Amino acid sequence: MARRKRLYEGKAKVLFEGPEPGTIVQYFKDDATAFNNKKTGTITGKGVLNNRISEYLMQRLSEIGVPTHFVRRLNMREQLVREVEIIPVEVVVRNVVAGTLSQRFNIPEGTPLPRSIVEYYYKSDELGDPLVSEEHITAFGWATPQDLDDILALALRINDYLSGLFLGVGIKLVDFKLEFGRLYEENGEMRIVLADEISPDSCRLWDARTNEKMDKDRFRRDLGSVEEAYQEVARRLGVIPEGGPGDPKGPVTVQ
Ligand code: C5P
Repeated sequence: MARRKRLYEGKAKVLFEGPEPGTIVQYFKDDATAFNNKKTGTITGKGVLNNRISEYLMQRLSEIGVPTHFVRRLNMREQLVREVEIIPVEVVVRNVVAGTLSQRFNIPEGTPLPRSIVEYYYKSDELGDPLVSEEHITAFGWATPQDLDDILALALRINDYLSGLFLGVGIKLVDFKLEFGRLYEENGEMRIVLADEISPDSCRLWDARTNEKMDKDRFRRDLGSVEEAYQEVARRLGVIPEGGPGDPKGPVTVQ
């Protein structure tokens, strides 16, 4: 087989040229980084699990009418996605105070928010992904006001749906990060679609009963049992059977 052209290597993924024009192969690595690359490490099996988890969540979102870049999973570590122009803004949705929100305002982690908060961060390793306002985004031309309207509506819809989906399997969706891209159709029309991934790398997921962390904070904060936490999220979503990888079963409902 001809060697595929490597388009981009990120912290947790590699992007290769896809088999057809307008497609990309997204390869999930086991590498983990935190605090803008200051902490690096490996979470064994993370790539395989995130590939499955993100596939599952993108498919469910697509079913409720959220446009996504996801096409299909190709193998254990790769999925085929539509090529999009990534909007250089990380969209964070928060339901419970945690992480940098807790630090910024000195509010204890775990404090519920009266309503969901949406924040924007400019994607720049060099600047450490600074928090920005809608004014910055439109003034600097990273997205138009219309793009932002679409992004905000999609982010809130995704939050509503995923909060319910995770609660159904005994997990609290504390906060998460989304990325969006511009998809250019053959007829020249442009649509904003959900891109990148949704996984325990990009979400804070707490056990609904015990508040135990089941996400990348276990790696960031050296809490141990990182691999087990990712596996448990995948198991509860029903994307890995008890005995290991193979045919996925349905989600495991927790009362
Ligand atoms: O660190 P902070 O509290 O701002 O993170 C909010 C949410 O966004 C967390 O779920 C975190 O995993 C996610 N995030 C991310 N990538 C970043 C920054 C935050 O996935 N570069």
